[in-house]
Amino acid sequence: MNPYAPDTAEPGSVEAIAKFTTEARFGNPWVAYVPASDTVPSPTKYLGHVVGAEGELSSTAKIYGYFRKLAETSPRVRVQVIGRSEEGRDILLAAISDEDGIRDLDKLKDATAALADPRKTSPEAAEALIASARPIYYFNAGLHSTELGSPEMVMELAYRLAVSEQPMIRKIRSEVVVLINPVSEPDGRDKQVDWFYRYLKGKTDFDNLPPVSPPYWGHYVFHDNNRDTHQEALELSKAVSRMFFEYHPTVVHDLHESIPLLQTWNGTGPFNTNLDPILVNEFFAMAFAEIGALTSAGMPGVWTWGFGEGWGHHYLDSIAVNHNSMGRGYETYGNGTAETVERVLRPNEERYAGRPVTSREWYRPMPPPRKLRWSLRNNTNYMESGCLAILDYAAKHAKEMLRDFYRKGYNSWQKGVKGGPYAFAIPDDQGDRRRVAEMVDLLLTHRIEVSRASAPFKVGEGEFASGTYVVRLDQPYRNYAVDLLLPQMFPPDAAYEPYDDVSWSLPVHYGVEAKRIDDAKVMDVPLAPVQSGFETRGEVRGTGPVFLLKDTGQEALLALRNRLSVFRVEIAEKAFKSGDKDYPAGSWILSDQKGLADAVKRASAELALDFDSAPAVPDVARHESKLARLAVWHTWADTEAIGWVRYVFDREKVQYSYIRDEDIRAGRLRERFDIILFGDCYLRLQDQIQGIDKKYGPMPYMKTKDTPNLGIPDASEDITGGIGWAGMAKLEEYLNAGGLLITLGNGAAIALEGGLVRDVYRKSGAVNTPGSELRVKFVRPDHPLAYGSPEVTSAFRTGLTVYDIAVSGRGGVVLQWGTKLRIEDREEEAAEGAKPKDPKDPAKKDEVKMLVSGAVKGEDELEGRPAILDLPAGKGRVVAFLFNPIHRDLNRSDHRFLWNAILNWNALPPPR
Ligand SMILES: [Zn+2]
Repeated sequence: MNPYAPDTAEPGSVEAIAKFTTEARFGNPWVAYVPASDTVPSPTKYLGHVVGAEGELSSTAKIYGYFRKLAETSPRVRVQVIGRSEEGRDILLAAISDEDGIRDLDKLKDATAALADPRKTSPEAAEALIASARPIYYFNAGLHSTELGSPEMVMELAYRLAVSEQPMIRKIRSEVVVLINPVSEPDGRDKQVDWFYRYLKGKTDFDNLPPVSPPYWGHYVFHDNNRDTHQEALELSKAVSRMFFEYHPTVVHDLHESIPLLQTWNGTGPFNTNLDPILVNEFFAMAFAEIGALTSAGMPGVWTWGFGEGWGHHYLDSIAVNHNSMGRGYETYGNGTAETVERVLRPNEERYAGRPVTSREWYRPMPPPRKLRWSLRNNTNYMESGCLAILDYAAKHAKEMLRDFYRKGYNSWQKGVKGGPYAFAIPDDQGDRRRVAEMVDLLLTHRIEVSRASAPFKVGEGEFASGTYVVRLDQPYRNYAVDLLLPQMFPPDAAYEPYDDVSWSLPVHYGVEAKRIDDAKVMDVPLAPVQSGFETRGEVRGTGPVFLLKDTGQEALLALRNRLSVFRVEIAEKAFKSGDKDYPAGSWILSDQKGLADAVKRASAELALDFDSAPAVPDVARHESKLARLAVWHTWADTEAIGWVRYVFDREKVQYSYIRDEDIRAGRLRERFDIILFGDCYLRLQDQIQGIDKKYGPMPYMKTKDTPNLGIPDASEDITGGIGWAGMAKLEEYLNAGGLLITLGNGAAIALEGGLVRDVYRKSGAVNTPGSELRVKFVRPDHPLAYGSPEVTSAFRTGLTVYDIAVSGRGGVVLQWGTKLRIEDREEEAAEGAKPKDPKDPAKKDEVKMLVSGAVKGEDELEGRPAILDLPAGKGRVVAFLFNPIHRDLNRSDHRFLWNAILNWNALPPPR
């Protein structure tokens, strides 16, 4: 008897899968065999081993080779390239369906595109389309590189879907189009595979493995490649976006590995209020379909709910959630190595929503065992079974899923038609035309329609100039537009801590005004649509010989300093007048220089900056802005957040040297650099100094014959040991010689707690600001760090240490959190009998609420504490940002604070 009929198992496949599955209950009959085929090569034949075999991993090229082979040999598979990574690797997409589905793929794409726009497709027309349309189900594998299993698993899934004749699979083929992106982060995959063979192969003592990850995955960032949906900065996000608008998939499903044994996402709540309620129902219906299928097959540890919150949708799958489709994901259990190892689920460590992962709950009917031997094949079994279960669900609910997709778009559009708000108005000249244009362009990238007013207009909310950008909300992606354009107000009474940032509002984080319009008259304003990639240019008034640039907070000034690298640039320290125009402190003065006029013209066009001519240099206190020799230092122990710094500098074409721990240890730093920038990182002080444990060393990260993918974007003969105390001494020597050390976010610890400066201490207290925008105030508004900024403004803060500073050092505080005094000072005032301030008192007027967008807990403890410190160190300086001014590519309005430190490094005022 053939237990796999109507399929025949490929000879040896049952035994091979059983061999690598550590316990029978970690598998099931669906994935217990590989179906035989005479015409299509199985992954086993192609790879020389079964998928999930112990100790075996495949490179991107190998995996792509298999998918191309599938497409050559099966009429049910097609492949296409949807993007190219930063390091030049293709990003491949495979489509799988029955022969008709592949033949009619264009027609099926047209159908989902029509369902995506309810303005063009009436409910009746939608029903007619749904009769022959198919849901498109997209899987995203290989996003986080240490999560090794999914790129292997999808080879077997694709093959099984293409060749199996099981009734369930036949129905999936005929009802659904399956899309698979087998390696969405190919740069990381290849580094990781080299790393495994170089450092991990054959090692099975899980608690004593060397670091399981190479120091880099993608060219710029690691894990944050999954936090890029709103920004779309990375090539992998752009590729998925391209895929999305070509196919309008009904579901986008990310495959991760971090939680035992299969966690199917939906979140504990609070759910984002801009989501259609239909979506919340879909989340749970689909998750319980998976739990039901796998639990009834006897597989323990399949669960949902207690992970993430459902408020933030900036993950890769969120492109679907934000565009009326369905976004979801799995966390299965991976080892970080392809070897089979013993794992223990310790109740105190493996906890989610306050409960150990081994507890039985309504959302976890059959918990995982506490001790288990775990293999890559077990992981494959869970992931592949989950995928099959949900594809079976999609095949059975195909019409309903398409109807929900259409309905969500329809509801979103109708909300805008009915109004409240009807639109957003974004004035184009807000001090930084380029940043406004970039924000508008980002909306267009998300297919949110934007227009410009062809004439001035007046509505209840005010008067707006011709050329004002207008986002009318009677469009299918209205909900996403509202989510991106209004501040977030995370419910303060939420039962669980949020998982990541709770604020992403573009106007808030770009420092741009987008005025909410509730006056229906805005619908009559004549508008002209704006297309993505539109040009914004600056203006050069007059022909010189002196040029002035008024500082209105432009982000492009650091780029400009680099474009004008051969010219002398001076920065005014006070406000001045030239002709009839007022220039604030921070404005640029470019004296008569050969070739300057042409350079100014080019930079103005490129960076959308305006320049005015003057006959002579104005008489005002000023200093030269010397082009700094800038070093960006990364530890080998954590290259993530500094990767975003590199990303922004590369985009802005800013010159810098990218230096390593060993470059710090080598010393002579002041001879080589004016500024050393140490970025935000998750490392504690001891690890910032000591780096990766030396017991694993020497650990080369080099391009060699056996590891051709390592050594990029930076290389080392030994990544262990950090800078060590020797490196700390070199940093001290650098500061003593007059160097400037800038630290960002948690990187401040090395200076403040490592003893490079004095007087600063950790402040205990329950402050929590999970990725939120907060009000800040310049304590020293005349400091160059304040150039281009109002005295009271805002900055983005994640959950970082709160520091305070002794009275003797308090003159080093440049910027503070909130607008009030520290709580101790307020109490002192009250104790001295100072009258509580009259709310009408003019001194009270800038005491505004601290929260701008997101959430804040322990506000009183944070008020008045330092946000930026400028402290003396030897003859040099430490400028410590106690937030990260380059958090991913989100908080654009914070960049200028950092640029000011770089542009004025040689003219920071004497410490007070
Ligand atoms: Zn992951």
